[in-house]
Amino acid sequence: MTDLDRKQDRAPIPRDWTYAPAPESRDIVRIAERYGHYIGGEWLEPSATYRTLAPRDEEVLAEVGEGTAEDVDAAVEAARAAFANGWSSLPGSERAKYLFRIARILQERSREFAVLESLNGGKPIKESRDVDLPLAAAHFFYYAGWADKLEYAFPNRRPKPIGVAGQIIPWNFPLLMLAWKIAPALAAGNTVVLKPAETTPLTALLFCDVLRQAELPAGVVNIVTGDGRTGAAIVDHPGVDKIAFTGSTEVGKAIQRRLAGTGKKLTLELGGKAANIVFDDSALDQAVEGIVNGIYFNQGHVCCAGSRLFAQESIYEPLVEKLKSRLETLRVGDPLDKNTDVGAINSRMQLEKIEELVQAGRDEGAEIYQPPCRLPEKGYWFAPTVFTNVAQSYRIAQEEIFGPVLSVLTFRTPEEAVEKANNTPYGLSAGVWTEKGSRILWMAQRMRAGVVWANTFNRFDPTSPFGGYKESGFGREGGLHGLEPYCSFEDSETFGG
Ligand code: NDP
Repeated sequence: MTDLDRKQDRAPIPRDWTYAPAPESRDIVRIAERYGHYIGGEWLEPSATYRTLAPRDEEVLAEVGEGTAEDVDAAVEAARAAFANGWSSLPGSERAKYLFRIARILQERSREFAVLESLNGGKPIKESRDVDLPLAAAHFFYYAGWADKLEYAFPNRRPKPIGVAGQIIPWNFPLLMLAWKIAPALAAGNTVVLKPAETTPLTALLFCDVLRQAELPAGVVNIVTGDGRTGAAIVDHPGVDKIAFTGSTEVGKAIQRRLAGTGKKLTLELGGKAANIVFDDSALDQAVEGIVNGIYFNQGHVCCAGSRLFAQESIYEPLVEKLKSRLETLRVGDPLDKNTDVGAINSRMQLEKIEELVQAGRDEGAEIYQPPCRLPEKGYWFAPTVFTNVAQSYRIAQEEIFGPVLSVLTFRTPEEAVEKANNTPYGLSAGVWTEKGSRILWMAQRMRAGVVWANTFNRFDPTSPFGGYKESGFGREGGLHGLEPYCSFEDSETFGG
């Protein structure tokens, strides 16, 4: 008998390939029973509170302040004072030091933040650990690098800070959206009043601890928690000079109407209904991975999710077959388990919205496929779903579901693919799968989407601008484009731009 045979002889043959539980410990996180608002570097006692939950089992995690107009007023006052009393006139190299410090502390405390993000938001720990946290730190590093080079970023335009930025963020990437908003604002010399989403306030509140650790001057960043009314109070506050909003198109439109004529600057990052287009010459197995990543990453709670798959007719059947068998391998369950691919839906309200739209898909005549998977009894869950036999007019092909639900459509020619991909009020992102570089460029030029990924999907980098066309909003985040909305320029003052 050879050595090899002997080894094979002894090797246990697994009876099945299911993974053993691999829970990440939550001991690293200390959650307070009650949180106030972080204003002027102090914790302000809230006049009212609400309970924030863990979507995986509805455990109450903490009581959190329900921000009133008075709280917002105090936060804006603190931000104005910090702006006037030194932050805006601090040399860029000094501001950069604070941003570098924040970035490094986020890296050092990344496991703590990742666990808290998954607990409060429901996303798989491997995503918060490997995507949200590294990217959040990378945004602070990146904009720290620009803080002392604004003159080079915008040559001959003499960039100056705007003042107080009001920032309102959603629940799908709580800490990452905070980083997208706060890092460029501070790098350009502004101060901030930020409101996290009602369902996911905890990492923003833990971030206040990072601000203290970094010894950021009081009032430069103020965090007020609450619901849409708190957000509206920030939008309406006369002491705020710029609003940066990420969220639904509906609320984005309402904010734009309220700001009309006020002179406040505005950037909106809203919804999407991205087309992921697969040509018959693409590497199908890779495309399947891209499709899965495109729509099941973060339970589909992604504004740029590839929620419409366009398959070229000649490969429609093998593609859907491969996709369905891949879906069977997705592990749905505890967000804190390191093997989990699809975690919990963020809130009961979002679950009901997904269920309503999926029912509409069934009623309109689409064919549903869900892999066999046992969902936990407590908490908010939805199985990965694929709809075939979808017409373009169906609600599931038109409306943002914001859940793990994919609609599959077909096309024959590149022209038809472009026309169908653009047939949506949104224009945030798109994906193209083909082996031909010339076809990628041809498609990218014709698609009305802020980002077009080629043979990949959901790739993010702080140096790369992100944002939409049409009802997906305006303004860009990331890169120099993301710095610009936080600056005022002498040329725009002179010419009234
Ligand atoms: P919203 O647009 O309501 O929420 C985004 C943020 O705005 C939250 O912080 C929210 O507070 C706040 N807000 C709500 N109303 C107002 C207002 N009138 N003025 C100022 N701020 C306000 O999104 P939802 O959470 O309700 O999600 C609804 C749908 O929006 C989802 O199903 C999804 O389709 C889409 N969505 C898109 C996102 C994207 O990135 N493009 C992100 C999130 C949602 P509060 O949390 O208290 O509601």
